[in-house]
Amino acid sequence: MDLLNTLVDKGLRRELPTRDEALAVLATSDDDVLDVVAAAGKVRRHWFGRRVKLNYLVNLKSGLCPEDCSYCSQRLGSKADILKYTWLKPDQASQAAAAGLAGGAKRVCLVASGRGPTDRDVDRVSDTIKAIKDRNENVEVCACLGLLSDGQAERLREAGADAYNHNLNTSEGTYGDITTTHTYADRVDTVQKAHAAGLSACSGLIAGMGESDEDLVDVVYSLRELDPDSVPVNFLIPFEGTPLAKEWNLTPQRCLRILAMVRFVCPDVEVRIAGGREVHLRTMQPLALNLANSIFLGDYLTSEGQAGKADLDMIADAGFEVEGAGEVTLPEHRVTAGAGCGAHAEAGCGSHEGGGCGSHADAGCGSHEGAGVCGSVKVRAEQEQPAEARTDLVAVRRRGAGTDLAPNA
Ligand code: SF4
Repeated sequence: MDLLNTLVDKGLRRELPTRDEALAVLATSDDDVLDVVAAAGKVRRHWFGRRVKLNYLVNLKSGLCPEDCSYCSQRLGSKADILKYTWLKPDQASQAAAAGLAGGAKRVCLVASGRGPTDRDVDRVSDTIKAIKDRNENVEVCACLGLLSDGQAERLREAGADAYNHNLNTSEGTYGDITTTHTYADRVDTVQKAHAAGLSACSGLIAGMGESDEDLVDVVYSLRELDPDSVPVNFLIPFEGTPLAKEWNLTPQRCLRILAMVRFVCPDVEVRIAGGREVHLRTMQPLALNLANSIFLGDYLTSEGQAGKADLDMIADAGFEVEGAGEVTLPEHRVTAGAGCGAHAEAGCGSHEGGGCGSHADAGCGSHEGAGVCGSVKVRAEQEQPAEARTDLVAVRRRGAGTDLAPNA
């Protein structure tokens, strides 16, 4: 297991693995998946112990987006039968957030569909942040409103936002295949604006859209360079009524390999299992807690997750514990003095070596085979086993924000 020993050593030192090493993790066989999880689990426990951070999504504005992101049920022309509503009022959003906070969430993610906010939208979200923080002093608030214009990140920061989410989603090389109405560079620019304004950046990916292993490694290396504090890993939920409805490409083992690769490349950042957790990991979810230190509680933006109670039971049964409001998520070296949720310090996630290192949560905007290089880990000789289409596990959200029904937190 030379490969895994090397990756553990590098992860503990925050040293960037080589691309071939990252590719080799994705290429390991199903027979070796427990070894891969155990190795990446050492890195996860070194930086985050057994803590699991809970995040709670509030979809402030659902559907009717003019952008054409192929994976998104809220996209232009989507035939997915999702909830569609315009901006929730601050007290409605605050009420929705309260359910997640009561369930143990320490971060609320305020998400709105659309290309990006107008200045009036930033005002609305500022009022919403205030309404939530007035009721819950210690809560972390992350905004996810799409592409930011100059000055908007600063205004959100002044309004009390702690973080901003904008995912890169996929590699620069394939970005144009999934979205034509904005570019990869636009997305990078928004993450950089959030960083520059002093917001804790949250940016991640979506796996399962038909991308290659090289694409996955590309996007994770790009994320490491952008150095977000949190990296949400979404697994595509192939919504009926979207262009990617037939893309059932993921097995639970593949999801575990992807999460392990992300952990090795970004060892000391908050790696969050985002949308698609229940659909693709299924009964293997508890194993994934050895890789990620963060999940969403309850429902996603437009689809339903498992019950919040089931999330909490899973965490306890797997021997992990919910991170408390008073605990700092990130390792000390990433936390600047006085920053609530661990805004990154001067050093990035393993920024020595010159590398630098957030929900399509079903995917909204925010939430918005290489060779076995140095190792004796057996590399898959054949293609991935075909994944099973589990449309039975995809349930459109019909409760919580934007409805009269109680959320499932
Ligand atoms: S991901 Fe965001 S920008 Fe893209 S279609 Fe969905 S809501 Fe619109």
